[in-house]
Amino acid sequence: MRIDVLGVGFDNMTMTEAVDAAAALLDRPGCHYVVTPNPEIVEVCLENGEAKAAVNGADLVLPDGVGIIKGAAMLGTPLKERTPGIEFAAHLMGRMARTGKSLYLLGAKPGVAEQAAENLKKQYPGLMVAGTHDGYFQEDADVVEAIRKSGADVVFVCLGAPKQELWIQRNGPNTGAHLLCGLGGSLDIFAGVAERAPKFWSDHGLEWFYRLCREPRRIGRMMKLPLFLIHVKQERRRK
Ligand code: UDP
Repeated sequence: MRIDVLGVGFDNMTMTEAVDAAAALLDRPGCHYVVTPNPEIVEVCLENGEAKAAVNGADLVLPDGVGIIKGAAMLGTPLKERTPGIEFAAHLMGRMARTGKSLYLLGAKPGVAEQAAENLKKQYPGLMVAGTHDGYFQEDADVVEAIRKSGADVVFVCLGAPKQELWIQRNGPNTGAHLLCGLGGSLDIFAGVAERAPKFWSDHGLEWFYRLCREPRRIGRMMKLPLFLIHVKQERRRK
């Protein structure tokens, strides 16, 4: 059973369990998808029913941010651990390199997905990258066709939320891939054009603050964080 945090149902899994579950989905017929919401996305889901349906419709909903872990605990239904999308992706690629599954990288500015592919092939020897495409396209159909032609098993869809979740829900089955993962800004990090917060910051639940210092223009989006905590407190009182 999923753990509800303000209307978004999270799967309660350790990272190992999540990667095992994704690997199992990959071997099942049909098209499946994974999303990794943070508090900001939960707040978007409160206002946007379509985004909420796309997020909750995923086969795996994994808590990306420490805020979700805190929120779930405050509501009296703790989650086992944080499973950040980028770390989940790293584990999955390690597994794919060993099992011969192929990966398509979709998203970010032109050139970024190609650079990410080069870096990832070095980092995960044996990883097969079936193709790449930037995230600034007009027609879904052309991209869907490119993925289908590539024969990729897995697609990392990195268009930002909730664009990527809606894209996956709309187009996933037509890509022919078995697993699509919505992974936000991960390609920028894999390509080396953006940095993750050092371990100290993430260990102390301050990754958001590090990002804010590096990219002050995110302030508007980050105001959703305190709002999320207020909403969780209201929900706790209501319960
Ligand atoms: N992006 C994209 N197409 C768009 C809008 C955004 O490919 O139409 C990319 C953007 O270049 C960035 C990623 O989506 O690489 C979103 O990154 P952000 O840091 O906002 O995502 P987060 O990890 O915070 O969800």
